[in-house]
Amino acid sequence: MTAGVFSYSAVLMGSPILLKLFDDNPTLARQVFQLIKQQENLFTVNRAESEVMSINQAAGHHPVVVSEPVFALISVAHAVSLLPESAFNFTIGPVVKRWKIGFQGRAVPPANEIAALLKLTDPHQVVLNSADCSVFLQQPGMEIDLGAIAKGYIADRVQAFLRQQGVQQALINLGGNVQTLGSPPHEPQGWGIGLKKPFGRDDELLGVLQVQGKSVVTSGIYERYFELDGRCWHHIFDPQTGYPLDNELLSVTVISDRSIDGDIYTTLLYGMGVEQGLAYLADQPDIDAVFVTRDRQIICSSPRHFQFQQRDFA
Ligand code: FAD
Ligand code: MG
Repeated sequence: MTAGVFSYSAVLMGSPILLKLFDDNPTLARQVFQLIKQQENLFTVNRAESEVMSINQAAGHHPVVVSEPVFALISVAHAVSLLPESAFNFTIGPVVKRWKIGFQGRAVPPANEIAALLKLTDPHQVVLNSADCSVFLQQPGMEIDLGAIAKGYIADRVQAFLRQQGVQQALINLGGNVQTLGSPPHEPQGWGIGLKKPFGRDDELLGVLQVQGKSVVTSGIYERYFELDGRCWHHIFDPQTGYPLDNELLSVTVISDRSIDGDIYTTLLYGMGVEQGLAYLADQPDIDAVFVTRDRQIICSSPRHFQFQQRDFA
């Protein structure tokens, strides 16, 4: 790419993390990775201890006071989960844990178990108290999972931190969540962000999005999945059924200012499908999307905030 790019990588949140800067600044890179690690420690549900895990462990027993940022993110996730017909449900935790997609021991659970777990995924049964930043899950066994929103929030935190440090041009990729500052030097078109070919090799691209200072978030069924009985069982669940969302989509990419919005909208749009998603986006001037369908179509909502150079989809 551009001359003078310095790339730094790490593995955090079970994901490959990539930071691109235009100064050789390993100290800054270390600070960024530390910030991500700190955030992971607050939000993870993949270890026994985190603020979110203390809420889950007290489900059905008592409210838990959390820090303001954790309370704020949970409040956003709660509100999005309560939207009419929302495909986003942050209390999907018991279902996610049972399927274990992307983790060892994944399997298709028996239907009666899924039905029982679904009863533990009602976002109305989460009590938020802003007076003391406490969260109470009313039934034992309920579990919050912020996997569909936390990376977006963290990408925005990294962007704000870099800006605070005087950085004007940078890119952070948290594994599917890209957030950018400015444009690379001498590239007024902006950052070229590859859209991966579903189920293709890492270097196989459907096209390249050009953005400046925007976030690009992709949710797809081809990163975390397993195949059984001719079906692809992936990690984005239909909160109504407890099974992976099954529609015409392979992936949704959202281009927005804030990565948290990108993360929220990829899940919402995934649930809506192409037709309803496009109609919905007509009233959202700040959000753009690229849908990739099983029958090999690439549909852009309207390229207001990005340019897209398409390649073959064979
Ligand atoms: P998105 O499409 O944005 O979200 C999908 C994820 O959201 C699912 O994996 C599930 O967690 C959840 N979800 C599924 N269906 C719904 C729904 N209908 N509504 C709301 N949420 C839903 N991965 C590891 O392998 N090991 C780790 O140790 C690990 N630690 C993590 C720690 C943190 C703090 C975070 C944020 C993620 C971590 N991950 C880890 C990755 C995590 O398990 C998810 O795979 C990842 O967050 C999915 O992000 P995405 O952008 O690919 O998918
Ligand atoms: Mg998401």
